[in-house]
Amino acid sequence: MQTRIGFGYDVHQLIEGTPFRLGGVDIDHSKGALGHSDADTLVHAICDALLGAAALGDIGQHFPDNSADYKGINSLILLEKTIRMIRDLGYSIGNIDCTVCLQKPKIQAYIDDMRSALSLAMGIEKNQISIKATTEEKLGFTGREEGIAAYAVVLIMK
Ligand SMILES: [Zn+2]
Repeated sequence: MQTRIGFGYDVHQLIEGTPFRLGGVDIDHSKGALGHSDADTLVHAICDALLGAAALGDIGQHFPDNSADYKGINSLILLEKTIRMIRDLGYSIGNIDCTVCLQKPKIQAYIDDMRSALSLAMGIEKNQISIKATTEEKLGFTGREEGIAAYAVVLIMK
């Protein structure tokens, strides 16, 4: 069996009065993430981890942010397209582990729904997906509530 690991990282700016979607779930907050698509930071980090695991480049190459095709798109659609590329190469997903760095709001109550949305989009079990959240102790851009960051690692195998 061939096992490969991938790592993904993504950042978006947080802006007052913008809708906030994370892990495919709409979050109730005064700020939201700014981006060409729906700016779902967690889903973008997972896409990059998957592409990285298969050495397929990065999300910007496959879904360019100057393309009208991806303007305002639900990032779960990008994730589904990414999964298809991975499966076309004969890989299946082992597990995915993620950390979201965000000062506010607390997202603990949304995590179960995010895992459900992601498992549906990826066609894998919920127990293959781990999502953790942390603040960065009021330090840096996440601490100042200027932005959100997400990290993801994934194992794929064939
Ligand atoms: Zn992004």
